[in-house]
Amino acid sequence: MGYARALRCRKCGQEYPVQPLSLCDFCFSPLELSYDYKSMASAVSRDTITPGPQSMWRYHDMLPVEGEPVDLGTGFTPLVKADRLGRELGLDQLYIKNDCLNPTYSFKDRPVSVAITKAREFGFDTVACASTGNLAASVAAHAAKANMKAYVFVPSDVEPGKLVGIAIYNPVLVTVDGSYDDVNRLCTKIVERYNWGFININLRPYYADGSKTLGYEVAEQLGWHAPDCVVAPAGSGLSFTRIWQGLDELSMLGLIEPVNTHMYLTQAAGCSPIVNAFQAGTLHVHPVEPDTIAKSIAIGNPTDGYYALRIVRQSGGGACAVTDEELVAGMKLLAQTEGIFAEAVGGVVIAGLKKLMASGVIKRNELTVAFITGAGPKTQETVADIVQPFTVQPSLESFEEVVGVPV
Ligand SMILES: [Zn+2]
Repeated sequence: MGYARALRCRKCGQEYPVQPLSLCDFCFSPLELSYDYKSMASAVSRDTITPGPQSMWRYHDMLPVEGEPVDLGTGFTPLVKADRLGRELGLDQLYIKNDCLNPTYSFKDRPVSVAITKAREFGFDTVACASTGNLAASVAAHAAKANMKAYVFVPSDVEPGKLVGIAIYNPVLVTVDGSYDDVNRLCTKIVERYNWGFININLRPYYADGSKTLGYEVAEQLGWHAPDCVVAPAGSGLSFTRIWQGLDELSMLGLIEPVNTHMYLTQAAGCSPIVNAFQAGTLHVHPVEPDTIAKSIAIGNPTDGYYALRIVRQSGGGACAVTDEELVAGMKLLAQTEGIFAEAVGGVVIAGLKKLMASGVIKRNELTVAFITGAGPKTQETVADIVQPFTVQPSLESFEEVVGVPV
């Protein structure tokens, strides 16, 4: 059984019963789940978790659901020791959390698996989401599995590869002429009109907590230790806060030592409202107009920017932005040292890590985990210039003439 006992306002502390609701009636601040950690602590231990399924649902008792999950086999993705990339960047202990290897090729399967499970518990027959692409694919796939109807809304300039990866699951796919922030505004009107489970609106607290499993898994995979440093991307900032919460909860439950992890946040320079605020020394995030090829995180008005920044500051971490050129170089570096083809956001993380190393912010001996949250094949156009094959006739002579004799 689950141990979520209420929804609680992050600002004024007002509590609400567990229901489809994301904002406080009094101060309009985001609601989050409040758990009975005492009961949870008596039910979970390393010994109860370790023999569980090889998926995020090994942490079932720590997630806000009651019964059987809607599960495509998400999570417990590899934590890869990245020695070649580490040497390149000057890190002795670098790990990549490779969340490309989820059922719809991004970390979004984690929050969606929880939110759809909750939607079913609440009795919704239709689910929906506002998305930059990855979330829509995941919602559509999980809705197919759960036999629910799905409406998914994305900006019309979403990458073509992502549209195919959504449409294959046959949701009602709506492209909106505008930015993600426009899509989101439209969806906040739709949610008031229809009785739908909106994954990242009225189901947002449940959706949010699916990402905690990123923190749980990394600590478990490190032998029940929190890393010294985390480097992760931020769009809305929500998943960034939940990676931290995952580590923090494990410590609270006595499963790991107190957490001293430094949290580093990365964004693309063409959409870096959270990094801007960090550099300006404020917790107040000013919206920007996105202009970057890292579209998955091109969110100009990040809902959880303030909370993400607070974690960056409290953890003694940092934030940095990288140009589109730098992020493309980051994608190539990751692929060519570790064999991992990440989408543009992965390039943001690797290029950001490179900058943090170069400026001496992260030290060589610190155990660092870089989070790669989505797979490259969906956004091939960002690196299409690398395709420069040798074209030969099917003869040995032609091969040696065009390619040269291998030495
Ligand atoms: Zn409130």
